[in-house]
Amino acid sequence: MSGRYDMIIVGTGFAGAFFLLRYLEHAPKNVRVLVLERGGADSKSWQLQNRLTSSIAPDDIFTNLTPEKEWLTSPGFGGNSKCWWGGASRMMPNDFQLKTRYGVGEDWPLTYDQLELHYCTVEEVMKVSGPSDSPMPRSKPFPLPPHRMSDPDQLLKKHFPDKWYHPATARASAPTGTRGVCCATGYCELCPVDAKFTIQNGLAHLYEDPRVTLLLNSVVDTVETQGGMASAVCYTQDKKSVRVSADLIVLGASALFNPHILLRSGIEHRLLGKRLHEQMPIDVCIDLTGVKGYNGSTSICGNGYLFYDGEHRRHHAACMIETWNSPFAYQRASLRADKDRWNERAYIRFMFDDLPREDNMVRLDPTHPHKPVVEFKGYSDYAQRGVDLIPKMLDKLSDALPIESVESILLGRTTAHIQGTVVMGNDPQNSIVDRHLIHHQIRNLLILGASAFPTASPSYPSLTISALSLWAADHLFKS
Ligand SMILES: Cc1cc2nc3c(=O)[nH]c(=O)nc-3n(C[C@H](O)[C@H](O)[C@H](O)COP(=O)(O)OP(=O)(O)OC[C@H]3O[C@@H](n4cnc5c(N)ncnc54)[C@H](O)[C@@H]3O)c2cc1C
Repeated sequence: MSGRYDMIIVGTGFAGAFFLLRYLEHAPKNVRVLVLERGGADSKSWQLQNRLTSSIAPDDIFTNLTPEKEWLTSPGFGGNSKCWWGGASRMMPNDFQLKTRYGVGEDWPLTYDQLELHYCTVEEVMKVSGPSDSPMPRSKPFPLPPHRMSDPDQLLKKHFPDKWYHPATARASAPTGTRGVCCATGYCELCPVDAKFTIQNGLAHLYEDPRVTLLLNSVVDTVETQGGMASAVCYTQDKKSVRVSADLIVLGASALFNPHILLRSGIEHRLLGKRLHEQMPIDVCIDLTGVKGYNGSTSICGNGYLFYDGEHRRHHAACMIETWNSPFAYQRASLRADKDRWNERAYIRFMFDDLPREDNMVRLDPTHPHKPVVEFKGYSDYAQRGVDLIPKMLDKLSDALPIESVESILLGRTTAHIQGTVVMGNDPQNSIVDRHLIHHQIRNLLILGASAFPTASPSYPSLTISALSLWAADHLFKS
């Protein structure tokens, strides 16, 4: 690969693709963009035939020191959009101001209002389905109508009308022209009907733009700097090392691999790789009397905001609830054995935000420089204090649901939302990138994605990741 590029983007997931979308809208006809993606194409038919979302095994690319705590990644064109579930909720306005509002965690260096129009654009691109009411302010309606709730969700909505909502989801509720309607089987990782938005079915055309060169199977190892600016990227393809230079370098390799590339490049900061976090998931199975579940029209068909925002956040974690609408979600059968009552059951996930800890991290492994090591010491006491209140939360839900018994309360292995590690902020001492995701010192290096999240929220991250990429690309052309 020879010649100089205007821009190199690393990664083809949500972060890289939405940045490219907005960049190409602004950029002149003669720009040259190189996109480097570590994995292959792994087409939908290949995925379904092999029952895998990536031809690369996670163990080959990172070392997890605590396998009981999973971190899921699906390398290849489209990144984790291949295997995500399509939960597309926005963060709440106060999630951006935890420190100011509740005296905990960190404030984000931008506000909900500043992202609002970008949220709308991402929802339009993904054809997100959602209701006419919403727990947060919105300037535009959802592009697609809401899914049908299950019977337990309908009861919850009736009892808690301003705290229980149809989910905002990129699992289509109506045909979109390129995607079918969600089949609600709970096999969303390998969506059998291609109903959920993916980069492959929604943004693949970006990579066919004549200004863009996409190189698959190209693993970025380091970013070179010269005179305080990023000057080139070194990557490996077919076991050969290649160096290519550009005016602007954009990492969209996820919160696992963005910090690893920077660490290998010797771009140091005391927080680099640290504050790795995601929500603490607790899965609760409850049996119901006379109410049948699993009859909604999508895999998760309710989101509860009863324990999300409020003064309690000073003391313990906020929680978003999701109700699973398939007994086979996450391959965990959850049917009742009782005759004719197999679906008088609700499977509920409580997702608590975690306060990032500096001892949870991605770091280098001197013996395997190509593989980051993930070290996870545990969730914060703040998250645990929220979890401790689950019995009280179930009491509250029993105002709406005829709960017969609580079958199990289990810590989930992951929410699959990898966040932190290259955090953003206004203070260069306490953050690595600024509010536009530009490295504080290396001003032609952007680091996109959930690696920038200074705190978690209980919400799903990918809509915010995508909106942040639009915001960062817009800023580039304004400045
Ligand atoms: C099973 C599952 C379900 C999920 N469900 C949801 C959900 O419902 N809602 C939600 O919001 N989120 C969900 N997520 C999380 C979501 O997938 C991630 O938040 C999102 O994909 C992150 O986007 P990204 O572009 O930053 O990173 P990724 O999607 O991980 O993309 C990073 C890209 O960079 C490439 N790359 C990495 N390292 C290198 C390198 N060194 N050189 C070149 N390329 C590189 C990767 O191959 C990949 O293509 C789910 C995740 C999983 C695994």
